[in-house]
Amino acid sequence: MTTVDAPAPTISIREHYRDVASDRWPVTVVPQADELLSSWLHRLAHANGVPPRAFARVLRRNAVMWSPALDFRLPGEIAKLLSANTGIAPDELAAMMLPHALPRQLLLPLRNGGHRTESTWLQFCSYCLAEDAQPYFRRRWRLATRVSCSKHSCRLRDRCPSCQSCIAVFDQAELVPQHYCARCGYDLRRASRIGISPAARQLDRCIDDICRLEGMRNTPSSRSLIRRLLNLPDGIYSTANLISLSTAARAHCIAWAANRPDDDWLTAGDETAAAQWRLLILAAKGHRRLIERFADCLEKRRELRERQAKTTVQPKPVDVAALLGAYARVMERGRRRRSA
Ligand SMILES: [Zn+2]
Ligand SMILES: [Zn+2]
Repeated sequence: MTTVDAPAPTISIREHYRDVASDRWPVTVVPQADELLSSWLHRLAHANGVPPRAFARVLRRNAVMWSPALDFRLPGEIAKLLSANTGIAPDELAAMMLPHALPRQLLLPLRNGGHRTESTWLQFCSYCLAEDAQPYFRRRWRLATRVSCSKHSCRLRDRCPSCQSCIAVFDQAELVPQHYCARCGYDLRRASRIGISPAARQLDRCIDDICRLEGMRNTPSSRSLIRRLLNLPDGIYSTANLISLSTAARAHCIAWAANRPDDDWLTAGDETAAAQWRLLILAAKGHRRLIERFADCLEKRRELRERQAKTTVQPKPVDVAALLGAYARVMERGRRRRSA
């Protein structure tokens, strides 16, 4: 039996599903300030419901440390795939990589484990992670020359305080955010504070400012600076260079350098303008302080000039109307004399 009064269904031709559905992965993750590419990849994977270890298969990566390797070199086909599926432009991806404005020689080696006095590939500040809305790892935490957090004035960590493993998010098989240790599940945001002396913190900051300003181009001056920094453990640890040491050992080297009686160890024998800048930054205890001192100096000079200008006797302004009146009178007298 058919219902005569029932309205006939409206049939219209609509767009194909594939035309309206986006090719992109469901959740877009926006890179954060100074975020490391691998950190962004782990967050991207987690936001889209894929554990990092499985996400490596999506990108066809076989190496254990697949994401830290991508921080150094991102093959063109992966950059294209990531850009197409996330909407993040290729230059934004490149800005998260390590070669962008960081000296390669000072980066921590890709070491997944090792003795506790040896370096691991990545450091972190638990206070920074705790303050982040979306906890993430910074590019500058990959530098061997960084041992403290300027914001929280504490020493960085390079191991989970619970199981002493290095950060191994790349190997995480469960769907948990990257601030939980991949080995034991400890929440890295809960790690206690490790102190560092003010002198060591200041030197750490100055070294970072100097590296940032000099840009570490392939100049003799930059090469000499990198050599000096890598040799920092000389005299404290017999065989090690800076990048092979744990954060605790490097912090010890920096504290030792901060108290060295010869304060020109970073510049001795180097007469370049860059070396003079280094001395100024070290003397001012940081680039920001140096700029503040310059600004203070300029302000004082401006005030002095203003004060001098006020005390100088100014000539009386000319009364133009009176001058023109006098001129007209003289001219009139002359005309009368000529006509008489
Ligand atoms: Zn911090
Ligand atoms: Zn752990």
